[in-house]
Amino acid sequence: MQALPGQRKHKKPASRTRQTLHYTLATTITLLVIHGIYQRPKRIAFRNDYCRACVQPRRSVQIRAFDALHVFWIPVLPLGFRKRWFCTACGRQPHVHRGTRRGFKWAGFVVLLVLAALLWAAPLEPDMLITLWILRVGAPIGALLVLIHLTRTPQNPSLKENLAAIPPASDTVCPFCGSALLILSSQGSCPACGILRV
Ligand SMILES: [Zn+2]
Ligand SMILES: [Zn+2]
Repeated sequence: MQALPGQRKHKKPASRTRQTLHYTLATTITLLVIHGIYQRPKRIAFRNDYCRACVQPRRSVQIRAFDALHVFWIPVLPLGFRKRWFCTACGRQPHVHRGTRRGFKWAGFVVLLVLAALLWAAPLEPDMLITLWILRVGAPIGALLVLIHLTRTPQNPSLKENLAAIPPASDTVCPFCGSALLILSSQGSCPACGILRV
């Protein structure tokens, strides 16, 4: 059925409402994109810290950023604000463990030992004679090397011990903008950029 000119006139207010809705939606999305998802990360605090990546006492800064789930770099699901500490020297998260843990190395040692025992217990296949002999000799040598490495490298002090040795930040001037900090009962804050000394 074809719509008569008269009927179209009746439809007009409805389409205008839809158009208004579209404008509102567009504005909301624009506002979300400008003010929500793409909000700049903000420095909110600093402290004296121990960085496990630098293996040294370092200054770290807490950044608050708006996290969103990305699909091909397009934010699709806002996750909210999150605060994270970063080392000012290397830019990484200071308390994240680096390198292979000692536990994994011990597990590797045990695996090599068991492998060596199995290889020596198994009968030699004539067509794989060379390979099997290489493995028979190689596995215990590998286990021995891991053991030497484990006994020679001292057990690292725990993060707790490292942190205990670090004096708290005693700055009286903001390290980021140079303003004098307002000190109130051991905590300092910058009146200019709002960062906290913790
Ligand atoms: Zn670092
Ligand atoms: Zn400041």
